[in-house]
Order: sequence, then structure tokens, then C-alpha cells
Amino acid sequence: MTTYVWDYLREYEAEREELLDAVDTVFQSGQLVLGASVQSFEEEFAAYHGRAHCVGVDNGTNALVLGLQALGVRPGDEVITVSNTAAPTVLAIDATGAKPVFVDVRDEDFLMRTDLIADAITPRTKAIVPVHLYGQCVDMDPVMELAKRHGIKVLEDCAQAHGARHHGRLAGTMGDAAAFSFYPTKVLGAYGDGGAVVTPDKDTAANLRRLRYYGMEETYYVVSTPGHNSRLDEVQAEILRRKLRRLDAYVEGRRSVARRYAEGLGDTGLVMPANAVGNDHVHYVYVVRHPERDRIIERLRAYDIELNISYPWPVHTMTGFAHLGYGEGDLPVTERLAKEIFSLPMYPSLPQHVQEKVIEALREVIAEL
Ligand SMILES: *Cc1c(COP(=O)(O)O)cnc(C)c1O
Repeated sequence: MTTYVWDYLREYEAEREELLDAVDTVFQSGQLVLGASVQSFEEEFAAYHGRAHCVGVDNGTNALVLGLQALGVRPGDEVITVSNTAAPTVLAIDATGAKPVFVDVRDEDFLMRTDLIADAITPRTKAIVPVHLYGQCVDMDPVMELAKRHGIKVLEDCAQAHGARHHGRLAGTMGDAAAFSFYPTKVLGAYGDGGAVVTPDKDTAANLRRLRYYGMEETYYVVSTPGHNSRLDEVQAEILRRKLRRLDAYVEGRRSVARRYAEGLGDTGLVMPANAVGNDHVHYVYVVRHPERDRIIERLRAYDIELNISYPWPVHTMTGFAHLGYGEGDLPVTERLAKEIFSLPMYPSLPQHVQEKVIEALREVIAEL
């Protein structure tokens, strides 16, 4: 059987009854859109984060789009982020009509270089989107300090960091708002698409509720500011309620897998994931680095192991973002990483014997390089 970097079927087997009960609960409720399950999930996800408000939306990309709009980002503004991220981070900024402005990342942990933000700020800068990449947080104190000084908003991209902590604080509790994705592979994943924005601010939450519902006040059917149809689905919300109770256990499972990789591969010459100071990593993806990356991946196919690269093309070099005016050479660390990184199978229900097969195969392949 082929080994893939992600697979949910074992988890489904273990949780099947509860998940089917979640579906049945919604179908029997008599309310299929923005009903009791979405409301309960919003309350529970906000409470998990100790934040006053959570607004469920249809996916993580739109959590970013609506989050930015709710914080006041408009066409012509600039938003500072990284190119070393999943394309949707940048797509979302672009979709608001604002211009994404990139800073490079740190060579050791692939996270945003916060010391480069000050030079990227212009009078048009409206927001910063730090991306808590692969499951660990950006160094948020300097980000918040700069933002405060310049009157700029901060939207955390938490799509890969559910349950991660930075000096004890949960990802999603440090900025003005935080965007989450519940795409199935994520640390908290739905059985389909889903997303949410968490915020301590009442007005931002009210903006988000209008923006996800055509721009209408829910009770008045009047569009105040043109919005979207970006509601979190009731079935996914009920599934997420059940899975939220297990979030800490999922994270623990990922950490066990990570520990076994560190033990099994630490002496092979692979560069293993670095835990930045103060970070509790949730290992959304387990990214290692090697200059012979392409040969390693190719040879592992003979062992029936399919590895991913997250991400092989830096966003700023994609043809779809040529209009941003960046090119090869502008973000050297981001570009070098894209050539050397790859991801090992990582999910909480990854069977130990499968992981051992991966470790053994990697050891053989690297020894023969
Ligand atoms: C997955 C992801 C998104 C987008 O989430 P979707 O639910 O797939 O739209 C945005 N940012 C990052 C960093 C992601 O990993």
C-alpha cells in the first residue's frame, strides 16, 4: 500500500459513530444554514481561545479575505506578509484589491523575519499578515509593537497553527483578528471546507457577520456594504464541535510522531524542524531539508512512499502574481528553501509501523546518495 503524507481513513474509522451522529443531529434540527451548530461552534471555538468572538466562514481563504475587509483593508492599501506560505494567504490579500508586500523568512525556522517589516511599511500599509507556518508561531511581540506604533492592523494566518502556543499564548490570540482554515488536512479539520475568524473586538465581529451574509444585517435584508456568501456549513460546524474536544489530543498525537522522526532521523544529515524560542509546535506538516531533495523523493517512490513539498514554488515567482512586480532573486531564503524542503507523512493516526517504514527507507536512500 502506498504511504501518503496525509490520510484520514483510520481516524474516521475510530470516530465514525460520533461523526454520523453529528450529521444526523443537523439533518434533524430543521435548520440547515446558520443554525444552532454554527452558533455553538462559534461560542466553543471563541472560548477555546479565550476570545470574545468567533465568526464561522466557508473556508480559510475567505476567513483571510473577510478578516482583512472587516479590519478596514480596501483596494489600493498595502498588506505586509511572506511569500513563503500557501498561495491562499497571498490570493486573499490580492482579492481585497490591496497589494501584498513581501518580507523574507528566517533560514533556521522558515518564519517571517520581523526585523524586515519596518522597512516595508509605507503610508499605504494597512495590515500585516504573519503566517504561523507549519504549526509554529511567528515572533509576535515585534509585529504587534510595530503595528501599534504605525496604526496598522494585524491578522494572524492560523490555518496551520490550531492549538500552537507562543510564550504560552495560543495562536490566534495575539493579533487584532485571526483567520483559521478547517480544510480536512489541517490540525483541526472538517469533512469538507470550513473556516473561522476569531477576534476580541465587537465591531470587527459585527463586520464579519455582515460580510459573510451578502453584506446584510441578518434580520433586515438590507445590504449595508456589499459582502459575500461565505457562511460556515451547519454540518461541518457540528462535526467541528465534536473534533474541537479532541484538538489537544490530535496535537499530542502529532507531537509523538514528530518525536519518533527526530529520534529516527536526527543523525542522517537531514535538517530537522527547528523549534523557535518560546514556541509549542503543533507539526501541521513535518518539513525537513536536504540539498539532494529531488533525488531523495524520486528514490522513495520505489518504496511506495509519496512525499509532498510544501511549497515547491515561492508565491512571488508564480505567473499569476507577476503583476505584483517581484521576481527571482528578490527573496533569497524563500527561494532557496523551495528547492531543498520536503514533508514527511504527518497526522495523529499515522500507524507506528508505517512511520518506521518511512524512517528506514529514508535512512537507506540517504546513505546511498
Ligand atoms: C490552508 C491554508 C489557507 C487556506 O485555507 P482554505 O481553507 O484551504 O481556503 C490559508 N493559509 C494557509 C497558511 C494555509 O495553510
